[in-house]
Amino acid sequence: MNTPQLSVVIPVYNEEEGLQTLFDRLYPTLDNLGISYEIVFINDGSRDRSAAILREQFQRRHDVTRVILFNGNFGQHMAITAGFEHARGARVVTLDADLQNPPEEISKLLAKMDEGYDYIGSIRKQRNDSWWRHMGSRTMNRLRERITNIKMTDQGCMLRAYDRPLIDAINSCKEVNTFVPALAYTFARNPAEVMVEHEERALGESKYSLYSLIRLNFDLMTGFSVVPLQWFSMAGIAISLMSAFFVVFLLVRRLFVGPEAEGLFTLFAIAFFLIGLTLFGIGLLGEYIGRIYLQVRHRPRYLIQAVLDKTE
Ligand code: UDP
Ligand code: MG
Repeated sequence: MNTPQLSVVIPVYNEEEGLQTLFDRLYPTLDNLGISYEIVFINDGSRDRSAAILREQFQRRHDVTRVILFNGNFGQHMAITAGFEHARGARVVTLDADLQNPPEEISKLLAKMDEGYDYIGSIRKQRNDSWWRHMGSRTMNRLRERITNIKMTDQGCMLRAYDRPLIDAINSCKEVNTFVPALAYTFARNPAEVMVEHEERALGESKYSLYSLIRLNFDLMTGFSVVPLQWFSMAGIAISLMSAFFVVFLLVRRLFVGPEAEGLFTLFAIAFFLIGLTLFGIGLLGEYIGRIYLQVRHRPRYLIQAVLDKTE
């Protein structure tokens, strides 16, 4: 297989119900584009029949299909990273397996790229997810915009297109916890965004619990910025200054008013607030240190059980 013009990278985790529909829509769409392409599926340690279904599909369309089978569940972003390492296309598009981003929109991204952009993000025109996902995403989007200088209107939308130099840059990173769209943004020379449709998840369910969404957002914040640490130092400086004034104030009162034992509960309130703040600070430090620890161990980021590829 020589270099195809397009690689589509799709992470798959327990998607047995939806895969056939995905094939039925994706392959004709790409065939109609009239360019050479390959589809790289990464099975992220699914515990259902997904791997078997991918194998069958590989048998059927081995001319354009490649399948990477992970040894276990390493997460969506690790799956995409592995997909990037194996993708050979001059351009790479990432897509979710659940059809929430319609594959028909791929041509829109490619058309935008033809205008000279090297990274195309996407914005969900009308998002069809539960209200708490919606609210949470909006808050996190705003917070991320303030602490990192990554400008993605819709960080959660994975339908994105990357030019080859960006893929090479991402492949040269060996980050353990990462968020691929943000990483690409830091390397992009000329990024752009397009509006895309968004559908409700028709089959299967979301693989992200509230907890894993929080983890993912921590990866995003700590992986792309040290501003949270700096905010904390600033808060520390401000509180130390205020405490210094407070000590002087108490000293003066002691001299002029005499001994006092009032205001015990005010004291408690202040102490609790400061303890809370300190614990938060330690936790925040821990988030960074934990990531340093994971990174310095140099363990393999993911394990590949097999690669289905007619050329290998
Ligand atoms: N996914 C994955 N590994 C995981 C979780 C998810 O490969 O540990 C894949 C999943 O199969 C899907 C995509 O990542 O193709 C997005 O997942 P999902 O639709 O559950 O996320 P949501 O749309 O709810 O954000
Ligand atoms: Mg989804």
